[in-house]
Amino acid sequence: MYDPRTLLPLVHRLCTHLSEWQDQHADAPVDSNTAASFVGCDVDALESVLTSYLDRLTTGNYPFFHPSYAGQMLKPPHPAAILGYWAAQFINPNNHALDGGPPTSAMEKEAVDALRGMLGFPGDALGHLTSGGTIANLEALFVARESHPDQAIGVASSAHYTHSRMSHVLRADTAPLPTDDWGRIDPDALNATLANGSIGTIVCTLGTTGLGVVDPLHTILPICRHHGVRVHVDAAYGGFFRLATAPPLSHSTKAAFDAISEADSVVIDPHKHGLQPYGCGAVLFRDPAAGRFYAHDSPYTYFTSDDLHLGEISLECSRAGAAAGALWCTLQAVPLAEGEGLGPIVNACLSAARSWTARLHKEETLTVYTEPETDIATFFPVPSAHHTEAVSARSQRVFDQAMQQEEPVYLSLYSVPSAQFTTHHPTYAATTDTVTILRSVLMKPTHEAYVDTMHERVCKAVAATQS
Ligand SMILES: *Cc1c(COP(=O)(O)O)cnc(C)c1O
Repeated sequence: MYDPRTLLPLVHRLCTHLSEWQDQHADAPVDSNTAASFVGCDVDALESVLTSYLDRLTTGNYPFFHPSYAGQMLKPPHPAAILGYWAAQFINPNNHALDGGPPTSAMEKEAVDALRGMLGFPGDALGHLTSGGTIANLEALFVARESHPDQAIGVASSAHYTHSRMSHVLRADTAPLPTDDWGRIDPDALNATLANGSIGTIVCTLGTTGLGVVDPLHTILPICRHHGVRVHVDAAYGGFFRLATAPPLSHSTKAAFDAISEADSVVIDPHKHGLQPYGCGAVLFRDPAAGRFYAHDSPYTYFTSDDLHLGEISLECSRAGAAAGALWCTLQAVPLAEGEGLGPIVNACLSAARSWTARLHKEETLTVYTEPETDIATFFPVPSAHHTEAVSARSQRVFDQAMQQEEPVYLSLYSVPSAQFTTHHPTYAATTDTVTILRSVLMKPTHEAYVDTMHERVCKAVAATQS
């Protein structure tokens, strides 16, 4: 992590530029006593607000920037995104309509086009940014419902929980999809499920939020095509692994990511692996005619027009121009490429999960749960009694101890169905419906060189809680 103070000259540069821009409109009425005051408060008052703000921010948060934070799916954004977002706020463009922010609307199109290129969608695909993955998926489910109003949306149990929630919001029927014992959609069983024609679209998750497993999209797609079923890919977390190589990805996982280019719609979250601050999600539709569902009276051609107002194809009205600007800045600094920019970053994260898992395999007091397909490592401390209740209790204690000890490591807890757990670990009795294990999202490239340290710290927490 860099020292935030290295950004000071750039912040100065931004302030100078914005000040010069304001000077072009020098006839604007000035706030009274501008040198010392802002609207409604003076500089001293603002300073004291910031003092308590900073205090709360830095005492209450885990060190997300540090590799010892290996818990949930989050990390600080790229400095290009921070500066880009910060500068845009002085202007506060709204990307709802072109005249709400012409430059950031143009940047949104360029940034979405870069995502489109990375995902392998055709040049005329329709897409836009959203406030996050949930809203992006809501839009994809909305188009699924509108295009097949009498058919259900197929959702596997391992899909993100918001698919059920948003289907409920949409009053769209959902149907469960058959999965293998890791929660991945099972292609053979899917063929039978789709045969009766009750499902119009399926949701395929490329990188589940829990275990990070990947539905075999390359085998699922031909089956869906055969039955005339649409495929929506939820790659909110995993989409940027399109830039990863095999290895560290396995060849079959790589094949699944390669197949995204054939999907009907896809969601990707730049605020997860795309180095962005929250809220930045994106949805793309392969067929630009999907735009007809957003407005009632516009002809289809309107949606391929170059002057398209992004607000016309978004369920949200106001959207942060700053988010588009931040993503655009980041993509100039960190291109979406395999060999440079983001590719090596995601490869390092994937390698970290693999090398930590290899270390965990050699440890008697810890058991690997899933072999990582993406950059999530899952494992559990071995309890003295072989039943699921003991695994949960042990995981909780190690989780607490790991972040309280002198040299901390921050993990996350994850709950899996006991039936799934005992399938993979048959020496354990299922005494509860679900079992809590440990989960680590290794989404910073610095995790790669930190694996040994993380491992030692977890082992210390295991030893300290052994009773
Ligand atoms: C994070 C995530 C979502 C939800 O996205 P938000 O940006 O948190 O709203 C949906 N699907 C998957 C697979 C995710 O990982």
